[in-house]
Amino acid sequence: MLSLPLDLPEFEVLKLTVQESCYEFEVQKSKDERCPYCGFKDYKRDDRTRKVRDLAILEKALYLLVHVTRFRCQNCDEVFSQVL
Ligand SMILES: [Zn+2]
Repeated sequence: MLSLPLDLPEFEVLKLTVQESCYEFEVQKSKDERCPYCGFKDYKRDDRTRKVRDLAILEKALYLLVHVTRFRCQNCDEVFSQVL
């Protein structure tokens, strides 16, 4: 398990790629989500990745590839996504 040199305790690092000019951290939120409408915990997932430019460390740019998950609640059928 890699540790992130950033203050992002709620993220789990999936992969670190070191490129010539930048670092890429692939991260996802480690917390379980609940439906914000009814609190139900059973849902369908739809994973996407969003690339976020973050700080430069050690003179290289740092990109976060954040997995943004959209959910469709199986109880009330509302669609929601993780809050970053
Ligand atoms: Zn719901």
